[in-house]
Amino acid sequence: MPDLELPCVQCKEIFLYNEKEQMLNYQRNLAQPQRCPKCRSKKAATGENAPSRFEIVCDHCGKHDSVPFQPKAGRSVLCKECYQSSRSRSRHA
Ligand SMILES: [Zn+2]
Ligand SMILES: [Zn+2]
Repeated sequence: MPDLELPCVQCKEIFLYNEKEQMLNYQRNLAQPQRCPKCRSKKAATGENAPSRFEIVCDHCGKHDSVPFQPKAGRSVLCKECYQSSRSRSRHA
Protein backbone atom coordinates (compact mmCIF):
# COMPACT_ATOMS: atom_id res chain seq x y z
CA MET A 1 0.00 0.00 0.00
CA PRO A 2 1.50 3.35 -0.98
CA ASP A 3 1.46 6.37 1.29
CA LEU A 4 -1.45 8.65 0.56
CA GLU A 5 -1.59 12.40 0.60
CA LEU A 6 -4.88 13.63 2.01
CA PRO A 7 -6.22 17.14 2.47
CA CYS A 8 -7.12 18.07 6.04
CA VAL A 9 -10.79 19.08 6.32
CA GLN A 10 -9.91 21.54 9.04
CA CYS A 11 -6.79 23.45 7.95
CA LYS A 12 -6.80 22.29 4.29
CA GLU A 13 -3.19 21.26 4.51
CA ILE A 14 -2.03 18.14 2.77
CA PHE A 15 -0.86 15.49 5.17
CA LEU A 16 0.64 12.08 4.73
CA TYR A 17 -1.45 9.04 5.53
CA ASN A 18 1.24 6.46 5.72
CA GLU A 19 1.15 2.75 5.19
CA LYS A 20 1.36 1.95 8.89
CA GLU A 21 -1.65 4.13 9.69
CA GLN A 22 -3.58 2.66 6.80
CA MET A 23 -2.97 -0.81 8.15
CA LEU A 24 -3.98 0.19 11.66
CA ASN A 25 -7.17 1.86 10.51
CA TYR A 26 -7.96 -1.05 8.26
CA GLN A 27 -7.58 -3.48 11.15
CA ARG A 28 -9.85 -1.33 13.30
CA ASN A 29 -12.38 -0.84 10.51
CA LEU A 30 -11.78 2.88 10.50
CA ALA A 31 -12.16 5.15 7.55
CA GLN A 32 -9.25 7.23 6.39
CA PRO A 33 -8.52 10.23 8.59
CA GLN A 34 -10.14 13.55 7.80
CA ARG A 35 -7.70 15.71 9.68
CA CYS A 36 -3.96 16.10 9.68
CA PRO A 37 -2.10 14.82 12.76
CA LYS A 38 -1.72 18.41 13.96
CA CYS A 39 -5.47 19.09 13.96
CA ARG A 40 -6.15 15.65 15.37
CA SER A 41 -3.88 16.22 18.36
CA LYS A 42 -5.33 19.69 18.82
CA LYS A 43 -8.79 18.20 18.91
CA ALA A 44 -7.72 15.55 21.37
CA ALA A 45 -6.03 18.11 23.59
CA THR A 46 -9.08 20.33 23.86
CA GLY A 47 -11.31 17.31 24.26
CA GLU A 48 -14.24 19.21 22.80
CA ASN A 49 -17.01 16.87 21.73
CA ALA A 50 -14.44 14.28 20.81
CA PRO A 51 -15.80 10.96 21.91
CA SER A 52 -12.83 8.70 21.65
CA ARG A 53 -15.11 5.84 22.59
CA PHE A 54 -18.37 4.72 21.06
CA GLU A 55 -21.21 3.09 22.93
CA ILE A 56 -22.04 -0.36 21.64
CA VAL A 57 -24.31 -3.21 22.59
CA CYS A 58 -22.54 -6.50 22.27
CA ASP A 59 -23.98 -8.60 19.50
CA HIS A 60 -23.03 -11.76 21.31
CA CYS A 61 -23.94 -11.28 24.98
CA GLY A 62 -25.98 -8.06 24.87
CA LYS A 63 -23.72 -6.24 27.27
CA HIS A 64 -23.24 -2.50 26.94
CA ASP A 65 -19.66 -1.52 26.32
CA SER A 66 -17.65 1.16 24.61
CA VAL A 67 -15.15 0.70 21.85
CA PRO A 68 -12.36 3.01 20.65
CA PHE A 69 -13.64 2.95 17.06
CA GLN A 70 -16.84 3.81 15.28
CA PRO A 71 -18.74 0.59 14.73
CA LYS A 72 -19.74 -0.01 11.14
CA ALA A 73 -23.46 -0.05 10.49
CA GLY A 74 -24.77 -3.52 9.78
CA ARG A 75 -21.69 -5.15 11.20
CA SER A 76 -21.88 -7.06 14.44
CA VAL A 77 -20.06 -5.45 17.33
CA LEU A 78 -18.69 -7.35 20.27
CA CYS A 79 -17.84 -6.25 23.77
CA LYS A 80 -14.23 -6.47 24.81
CA GLU A 81 -14.54 -9.90 26.34
CA CYS A 82 -16.43 -11.46 23.44
CA TYR A 83 -14.10 -9.83 20.98
CA GLN A 84 -11.07 -11.25 22.73
CA SER A 85 -12.53 -14.71 23.05
CA SER A 86 -13.60 -14.72 19.40
CA ARG A 87 -10.11 -13.65 18.43
CA SER A 88 -8.42 -16.32 20.45
CA ARG A 89 -10.80 -18.88 19.00
CA SER A 90 -10.20 -17.87 15.41
CA ARG A 91 -6.46 -18.02 15.95
CA HIS A 92 -6.72 -21.80 16.07
CA ALA A 93 -8.57 -22.01 12.77
ZN1 LIG B 1 -5.15 20.12 9.74
ZN1 LIG C 1 -20.20 -9.66 24.74
